[in-house]
Amino acid sequence: MSRSLFSWHDGKLIDATSQQVPLLAHALHYGTGVFEGIRSYGAPRGSSVFRLRDHLHRLLRSAQALELSARFNEHELAAAVHEVIAANRLHDAYIRPLIFVGQGSMSLDIEGPPTNPVHVLIAAWEWKSYFRHQGTGLSLKLADWKRCFPRPGLNTIKSAGFYVHSYLAQRDAKLSGFDDAIMIDEAGHVAEATAANVFFVTGGVVATPRAVSALPGITRHTIIKIAHELGFTVEEREIDPAELHSADEVFLTGTACEVASVARINERRIGAGVCGEVTARIAGAYQQVVRNDYIWAGQSPPSHWWARCEQASSAAG
Ligand code: PMP
Repeated sequence: MSRSLFSWHDGKLIDATSQQVPLLAHALHYGTGVFEGIRSYGAPRGSSVFRLRDHLHRLLRSAQALELSARFNEHELAAAVHEVIAANRLHDAYIRPLIFVGQGSMSLDIEGPPTNPVHVLIAAWEWKSYFRHQGTGLSLKLADWKRCFPRPGLNTIKSAGFYVHSYLAQRDAKLSGFDDAIMIDEAGHVAEATAANVFFVTGGVVATPRAVSALPGITRHTIIKIAHELGFTVEEREIDPAELHSADEVFLTGTACEVASVARINERRIGAGVCGEVTARIAGAYQQVVRNDYIWAGQSPPSHWWARCEQASSAAG
């Protein structure tokens, strides 16, 4: 991963390496930040940011859920994302917006003086693959860590504080020799991986957990559309962990990992232990869709899925 030279901070392009977060920033202590993970793709017809509008809507909804006033609207943030990509001369990029509470009061409640500023940061870098074994098939651990939220609906936002469970589950899986963990919800059903949604294929039918204790991922939504387009039946339902073990194919989806096939769960091999045919077809179509290079047989998605980049700003010199 090579980090970008320029980030966008509260309205200005800055040298990302020279910035320091105040040591008493509220978010550093209490996790009061919300973030997104977005990708842009280079393509023969020009680079574009995939589903930028949907990611920014989720970012602003996440900020609203924490009652953080972001100061910048969706259009300003979209322009800032393009500015960072252009300044760093990126095409295939991973983009990380973060809205976080800065330094001021050290009490949990930040109302009243001294009020803490709410900062907005947008960084971007090249990030080819999220998992080390993405090409050969992932091995996943069924985690002891549960995916649970203190209130219904909080699964739909990306708040920094909520990622501590994901961090612990992924760390535990990695220390045991796996690539990632699958988390179960409080009712004992499959929820999701630590930063990706999970799908499985049995007898040609594609299934994924309902998004009640999983993030309703933007990639998940794209994959459901692609699977329908390719003629597969897609079920969103409660899934027992045993179903994953006996599936023909399992794959993860997310902006960072895109479509990642799973070769093993715990000690059990999935299918033939290689990327299955359905996963390969869906993953192939996904790579074309994100580059706006797919010819839809059914209804094509709205054009705002691809936010065109104007390249090469003078900031990169
Ligand atoms: N679940 C979790 C917990 C995540 O962090 C992510 C990554 N944002 C996903 C699922 C996949 O979401 P998306 O497809 O919107 O990137």
